[in-house]
Amino acid sequence: MADDTEQTIYLMNDTLASQVAAGEVVERPASVVKELVENSIDAGATSIRVEIRRGGVSLIKVTDDGSGMSREDALMCLRRHATSKLKKVEDLFDIRQLGFRGEALPSIASVSQMSLTTRRRQDVEGVQLVCEGGEAQEPQHAGCAPGTEIAIANLFYNTPVRRKFLKSDETEAGHVEHQVRLHALSFPHVRFVFVRDGAVVFDVPATHDLRCRIADFVGHEMAGMLWRIRPTEAPGLRITGYLMPPSAARRNRRMQYVFLNGRPIEDVLITRAIRDGYGGLPTGLHPVLFLYLEMEPALVDVNVHPAKREVRFRRPSEMTMAVIEAVAATLAGHFRGESDREEPSAPPAPAPDITPAPTPAPPLKLESVIVPRQRDLELQPSAPVAKPLAVSPRLEKEKQAPAPEPPRPAPPKTIPEPPAPAPEPDLPKFRHIGHLQHRYAIFENSEGMVLLAPRAARERIIFERLLETERRPMVSQRLLVPELIELDARDMGVAQEASRRLEQAGFSISYFGRNTLRVEAIPSLLPLKEVGPFIQDLLQGFMSGDHRHNRARNPFEPYARQLARQYALQEDIEPLLAQPMPLLRDLLQCEIPYCTPGGKPTLIPFAMSELNRRFQAQ
Ligand code: ADP
Ligand code: MG
Repeated sequence: MADDTEQTIYLMNDTLASQVAAGEVVERPASVVKELVENSIDAGATSIRVEIRRGGVSLIKVTDDGSGMSREDALMCLRRHATSKLKKVEDLFDIRQLGFRGEALPSIASVSQMSLTTRRRQDVEGVQLVCEGGEAQEPQHAGCAPGTEIAIANLFYNTPVRRKFLKSDETEAGHVEHQVRLHALSFPHVRFVFVRDGAVVFDVPATHDLRCRIADFVGHEMAGMLWRIRPTEAPGLRITGYLMPPSAARRNRRMQYVFLNGRPIEDVLITRAIRDGYGGLPTGLHPVLFLYLEMEPALVDVNVHPAKREVRFRRPSEMTMAVIEAVAATLAGHFRGESDREEPSAPPAPAPDITPAPTPAPPLKLESVIVPRQRDLELQPSAPVAKPLAVSPRLEKEKQAPAPEPPRPAPPKTIPEPPAPAPEPDLPKFRHIGHLQHRYAIFENSEGMVLLAPRAARERIIFERLLETERRPMVSQRLLVPELIELDARDMGVAQEASRRLEQAGFSISYFGRNTLRVEAIPSLLPLKEVGPFIQDLLQGFMSGDHRHNRARNPFEPYARQLARQYALQEDIEPLLAQPMPLLRDLLQCEIPYCTPGGKPTLIPFAMSELNRRFQAQ
């Protein structure tokens, strides 16, 4: 029954408020570890030890050699909204520490039995605080090393429902280990020790070489095969890291790590940009990559999620472009045979722009280096020209009346495509050796052997040339005898849209009666043996609709993709295999030379180091 009291709204007491807040921040042992380790990093620690027992449920202990706290601060840090990192609202837009909300310690304390031992370097002795369910006892003097140790026993002992949500010790321990690994990958210059049920799982020494830190986790053999990401800058942003070629892509994202200012993040924009940088990977495959973004704090909002798993970018498109550029340039450089030998003076690991409290890092001064590449691709016809008889400049977009008419004579001269300056790729590096079973061309270069798949290469070359029609229109070639194509009435809608898009590629297709299309011209650089069946297959591809599921940068792209695939399919590869040098040259001038738009490899390198290893040669 309702009682008569007027007031039904009360302020929560601090402990209850913390327990509620803990629901957001403290989900499981791994989230406790995350908060404690972040605090240690913020405190400038160079060595951090994480120990757990029973998946972290019975004990989590984090020990650091950071700044430590004074007696007053130790008492203060357990109060809600107590932080040394945020003083005024402007600070929220210039966050250089991992923490700032002042919620973690009180939240964790409210759902556990906590003991905090801390000592500043300048103090002769430390202080120990014991706290149960958020209620702190009198601080005690403690003899301890400089730094801080926080032990959390019996997590969720007073919130049994939350405790029930925890998975097996094994699973929780796995999450903790992953969390510590993420921290270790974010901060290579900090030593990390992880101990589970009394046994050391890993102890990774501090290093200035990110590759060493990665090697600690993936093994030296795999680390040796990583390619250094070409450092890429945009205003307020720097990108570094390591990646593996598309051929090493995995079925899950376990080997894909992205860090932003020292925080591991999962962000759909970045994941997409990575895929775009790879030039399209088959769905379900994820590249192996360790990507480090350093961004001016003002350009990113990390205060979106209580556990800071999500971020919001203030200039998402610049960030995306830079990621695409970094990934694509790295891969392209490699496939062109540019070595990624690290200069001896390589900058230390991507020291994230996060510095211990009082010394804010100087703002990044970065100029944009994202310059669209100039290039020119010629589409050498590889197969004899069949039907087309005359060449005309690109046809007017006139629509013909739906009545048969004799083919018009076309102007006799060819209009050359406007020239565009093209940097010659360094071809002398490649020597043609022969071919393998009439399928692959074999080359050698300074790194080893390279196999080239001619059809895949053509697909990539044609695709990129088609995309260039935005700036450089395709010259058309009028068919002497227009080709008539009958369609099912239900397909006319798709055909209409497609024929409009195909004009950009140099086709001219008009209506001819109810369910008939008339193909009048095709791109002159892309001759066709059989125009009718080709267009029919093409339209079939569009109708099956799978091209629409692919994310595209512009509406023409899916059409270009389908066109390129189909052109490459019907070409005769024998002449290409006999003389593959021009093909290789065209391929290497592509933006993304190493795979088709659908993600199939065009080139597969076999490095000498790898071959020697397999032959067990020195
Ligand atoms: P936040 O990190 O958001 O400031 P926390 O509740 O995680 O909030 O921590 C509160 C404060 O306690 C921090 O601002 C910091 O001053 C202090 N602190 C926490 N952990 C440590 C540590 N390991 N070493 C030194 N100071 C610490
Ligand atoms: Mg914190």
